[in-house]
Amino acid sequence: MTRRLLVATRSVHKLRELRALLALDHTELVSLDDLGVEGDPIEDGLTFETNAAIKARFGVRATGLPTIADDSGIEVEALGGAPGVRTRRYAGEQATDEDNNQLLLTSLQGLSPDRRGARYVCALVLARPEVAGPRGGMPLISVRGTCRGRIASAPRGSNGFGYDPIFEPASEPPGGRTLGLWTPAEKNAISHRARAARRIIPRLTALGF
Ligand code: IMP
Repeated sequence: MTRRLLVATRSVHKLRELRALLALDHTELVSLDDLGVEGDPIEDGLTFETNAAIKARFGVRATGLPTIADDSGIEVEALGGAPGVRTRRYAGEQATDEDNNQLLLTSLQGLSPDRRGARYVCALVLARPEVAGPRGGMPLISVRGTCRGRIASAPRGSNGFGYDPIFEPASEPPGGRTLGLWTPAEKNAISHRARAARRIIPRLTALGF
């Protein structure tokens, strides 16, 4: 029997990556848009895990389906861990990826490669309707993956999304290939999302997904 698992995201990029990473034998991954779910929860948590939990609970309440949510972003050492949970809105509520990348490059202008360290973080949270308690409190499964690297001096490449054109994974030399130049398969081998996915897959399979 095939089960359905909701991925509580509107990002086609995250969905594509999660479909490749969470290739589960007995489970069909469906998105909020696939199911015509309207509205979005307010992500006012102070951590990636809290925001992923907010999105996962929202998905369960809206659909009754077990729901997995991804909250992710980038932490830059020279900025004390910013933009962190504000990654998507770094340059403003309506900011595009280009706006965000440009602001980050400007913020780090003049810094040498060894002072441009950064890491991607991905929290994945699973919420299940069958264990919803009174007032909707649901036990959650929460995992995290990270991916170390540095911020490039200029954007390069158009693969991936978000900050990928300005993110050089740690295995690259300064000035080497950004994730914008890595293939999807290469990114999916080492990314923060891949590492989180590897941690949650055994938990999902233990639950029959
Ligand atoms: P969220 O939708 O609130 O989780 O925001 C995540 C933001 O972090 C995205 O809008 C991207 O800007 C950034 N981000 C997360 N994962 C990645 C990735 O794999 N590559 C590039 N940017 C990412």
